[in-house]
Amino acid sequence: MLIVMEQHATQEEIAAVVVAIENRGYQARPIPGGERTSIGVLQNKGAVDASLFAGLAGVKDVIPVTRPYKLVSREFQPENTVIRIGDVTVGDGTLTIIAGPCAIESDTQAMAIARHVHKAGASMFRGGAFKPRTSPYSFQGLGKEGLDILARVRDETGMPVVTEVMDERNFDLVEAYADIIQIGTRNMQNFSLLKRAGKSEKPVMLKRGMAATIDEWLMAAEYILEGGNGRVILCERGVRTFVHHSRNTLDLSAVPYVRKESHLPIIIDPSHAAGRRDQVIPLSRASVAVEADGIMVEVHHQPDLALSDGAQSLYPEQFEALCREVRGIHKSLFSGSAVAAAG
Ligand code: PEP
Ligand code: MN
Repeated sequence: MLIVMEQHATQEEIAAVVVAIENRGYQARPIPGGERTSIGVLQNKGAVDASLFAGLAGVKDVIPVTRPYKLVSREFQPENTVIRIGDVTVGDGTLTIIAGPCAIESDTQAMAIARHVHKAGASMFRGGAFKPRTSPYSFQGLGKEGLDILARVRDETGMPVVTEVMDERNFDLVEAYADIIQIGTRNMQNFSLLKRAGKSEKPVMLKRGMAATIDEWLMAAEYILEGGNGRVILCERGVRTFVHHSRNTLDLSAVPYVRKESHLPIIIDPSHAAGRRDQVIPLSRASVAVEADGIMVEVHHQPDLALSDGAQSLYPEQFEALCREVRGIHKSLFSGSAVAAAG
């Protein structure tokens, strides 16, 4: 349930509603908005009696929340969540382009790719230091050394860096380096990791599980918000289907659906959806047209020598072309203006 306060409700009135909620054994979660404060009622086992709160001073409306997820829902927060990372904003109608290699392999490799993508117009750099690989014999990432390289990329280019955390054991370490902490598809329902992410001060990019429904994905995001971290970016990266012409199947309809259901920003990773280079640019174009808040793309200066995901990594010139094209599409469709909250 959501209790919407009058625009001019006083701090005392808000505090009194919080106390009334807590006295019933529920948890109160004030959500300050642009115009008015709302207060979420959490931890209720069944339906909450609206009349308990409707008559309190300063209360405008009491709205039942019909979805299983609450804090991530548009019912709870109608305005888009906008996330600021340094000079970069995600979710305000601008197009965020994140690019870099699948894995950080060396200082030379990361710097070469970073210079290319920065020049081409990427706003953030990606690269895995801890890699979740299907085979234990594949390159597992450089670990802390990879994080140190990412820090140098950030120092030299000014781009914020996105990198994956694979387990709770390394959370503190990754958190200390990353500007955005990525939780990968294989960990979308790693609930202890999600709870730890909920305690983080850093924004979290939560990838959709490869066989997850959108409800499951939003419930996973709910864990992070419930823990106190509201800075979550959702990332659609394709789901497992029966096809062989792509590694996964990019679920473009996830974007309009998530926009309706949630106020959280959503970006698309066409690289892991496609698994092959020739589909990455077309899927990127579609991602922008469907109104994703951004894209995250794998780029390598020598894809044939890449230690991970070379087949889907774009050459730097291809990435340059992609940036030109998607910025053009974004401009022509949305003229760079803020995206209105979905109705
Ligand atoms: C990645 O982005 O490096 C990655 C491993 O992606 P996913 O979790 O979507 O497979
Ligand atoms: Mn990859």
